[in-house]
Amino acid sequence: MCKVLALAGGVGGAKLVFGLSKTLNPKQLSIVVNTADDTIFHGLYVSPDVDTVMYALAGLTNKKTGWGIDGDSFKTLSALKNYGSEAWFQLGDLDFATHIKRTELLRSGKSLSEATDHLTKSLGILHSLIPMSDDPVRTIAITADDDLEFQDYFVRQKCKPVLEGIRFDGIKQAKPSKAFVDKLSEANALIICPSNPVVSISPIIELPGIKQLINDFSGKRVAISPIIAGRAVKGPAAKMMRELNEDVSSIGVAKRYIGICDWIIIDEQDSKEAEEIEKLGINVYVSSTIMNSDQEKINLANDVMSLIKN
Ligand code: GDP
Repeated sequence: MCKVLALAGGVGGAKLVFGLSKTLNPKQLSIVVNTADDTIFHGLYVSPDVDTVMYALAGLTNKKTGWGIDGDSFKTLSALKNYGSEAWFQLGDLDFATHIKRTELLRSGKSLSEATDHLTKSLGILHSLIPMSDDPVRTIAITADDDLEFQDYFVRQKCKPVLEGIRFDGIKQAKPSKAFVDKLSEANALIICPSNPVVSISPIIELPGIKQLINDFSGKRVAISPIIAGRAVKGPAAKMMRELNEDVSSIGVAKRYIGICDWIIIDEQDSKEAEEIEKLGINVYVSSTIMNSDQEKINLANDVMSLIKN
């Protein structure tokens, strides 16, 4: 049986994970999600990438934004603003319930993996959704003026400060979650979703021991480029890569993934980059990788799976 482990961030990851979940049953597919963007808002533990993937699997996603719950309202946030709380991070009323329950579970002594399991099962999700670690890892954007906590840089400051570097505080002390290591050893295929390589995939890969396990992985390892025609489909990946002096292209993504993927799927708009990528020792598969509709998510998932099975 094909056992696939997908590594994902938020919006881009969630789109492909949705497609994969329609193609692979819960015994065949597990998903490990970045938690380095996690933070506390209004006293509640918020795990943005986990929630984005969770809502996608539950069919709850707000399709306009790619995150949050469809049709959610923001009355609680506006009441909090009225009380003088900062309200730049958009948390919907229904979304608040997720953060309240997760925080309650964590305070009762459950791990982030256990809390996530409770939330996903309650939403009827059968696939395993696994936080990359139960320990705190926090992305810090190093900018000319300041070191910024990730959501401050990403949401409050809209990624405007020029990036000089990225650091993942706590990563050296963090352990990958047990389920992550178990699923990695059971899997016979690994998918690196089209997520931000700098802040969504890097923290997962850089957890102690993970790069080595992925290096030694015996099954097929397939990445999907989140950069199309020199731009990110959404979000700051291109701006970040440019400011970190990396090629803003699928070639730049492939350079980051040397040693951790055997294949990279690039968009048909970038087919001319294939030769350069192959020189890096990574095979290239060209496909249509823009996922606007559910059908496009399923189509790309089918492409990934046919590559894995051949
Ligand atoms: P975030 O944590 O919410 O920023 O989410 P991710 O890291 O998972 O995803 C962000 C990346 O997804 C960006 O670099 C986008 O370019 C990429 N992305 C979003 N939608 C698509 C899509 O339809 N196709 C591809 N190939 N990449 C996408």
